[in-house]
Amino acid sequence: MTWTPLSGRAQEIALEVLLAGPLTRLELADRLDLSAGSLTRLTKPLLAEGFLIERDEPVGNGQRMGRPQRPLDVPASAFHFVGVKVTSSRLFGVVTTLKAEIVHATDVAIDSKDPGHIVAGIAALVRDLTRQVGHVEAVGVTVGGEVRDRRTVVFSHILGWRHVPLADLIAEATGLPTVVDNDITGLTESESWFGEGRGLEQFALVTIGAGIGYSYVVRRHQVSLTDAGLGAASHLPLDPTGPVCRLGHRGCALAWLSSGSIAGTVSTALGRTVTYQQALDLAEQHDPAAARIVGDSARQLGVLLGMVASLTMPEAVLLGGEGVRLATVGKHEMEEGITKYRDPQASAIDIRLRPSDFTEWARGAAVVAIQDRVLGRV
Ligand SMILES: [Zn+2]
Repeated sequence: MTWTPLSGRAQEIALEVLLAGPLTRLELADRLDLSAGSLTRLTKPLLAEGFLIERDEPVGNGQRMGRPQRPLDVPASAFHFVGVKVTSSRLFGVVTTLKAEIVHATDVAIDSKDPGHIVAGIAALVRDLTRQVGHVEAVGVTVGGEVRDRRTVVFSHILGWRHVPLADLIAEATGLPTVVDNDITGLTESESWFGEGRGLEQFALVTIGAGIGYSYVVRRHQVSLTDAGLGAASHLPLDPTGPVCRLGHRGCALAWLSSGSIAGTVSTALGRTVTYQQALDLAEQHDPAAARIVGDSARQLGVLLGMVASLTMPEAVLLGGEGVRLATVGKHEMEEGITKYRDPQASAIDIRLRPSDFTEWARGAAVVAIQDRVLGRV
């Protein structure tokens, strides 16, 4: 069976069960403001066609209905989606269920940023992942950069691309419906639909790693800007004593917080090349140079988080990205930075660290494909 996009109330019901289920009929009727009769009438065809299932285990004591209720759910593991995150050196792929649960993950090195080479690599990865589950519904791909209409990479600094019709190229190579989006957008949607953002009225997401990402979600709607792919938070000024970014800003967020910049500054201090993770290891081992540099960057991360909280006043700030270990190694300094420009009376910021290796980014790519299918966009 293929997940055919639904419309109207049927789509609303399936979406609510997908995002919040399993739910009893009573809970579902309450959430969607439907009468019990309407809900029964509307769910009947969805159950008959296999979009919804009844779970065996009853929930609640059923007092309101006089008997226990069998909750409704979606048959998540009957539908699979592939997500691929493209970085400058590797492709990270996952195959997930309709609820974005990862069934299998894999990654492969790429030795050229040529679009043709990367498309061939993605197609091979999609074939590999499809074999794990038999059939996939659609493919989602995310890249760092600006993506238009979920199809064309307009600009990607890390890949050196301009106007690459990536979705069409991958669809042609795989024969599968394909959608492409910005990587922060994908990760944000993943948190919003299936992650820490579930149940939050509004939240902000900050990512650190090769780049700096920021996004803001209100009632499941990501606030999107035309220039979102450029990384609006990357060049916010944090402290003018910092390193210089590629655009020549001294002490912007990218200069202070990107993994390349931190690794480079530690390498310069030590007179030998170290990776980002090695720089953090050295800081943990109290190497004086690494500890100073990592601590200073962690403090600036705190300043950035304080700014985000002060400007958008989210219920929670999720902190992710492949460089998120900075927040653990430099926890003390980060906390200093958070309060540095906040009123002492201001309430504490609810900061939630997210598991953010590249598999999470790939899951975000799968979520973009899931959303397009469920909302009827592919
Ligand atoms: Zn900058």
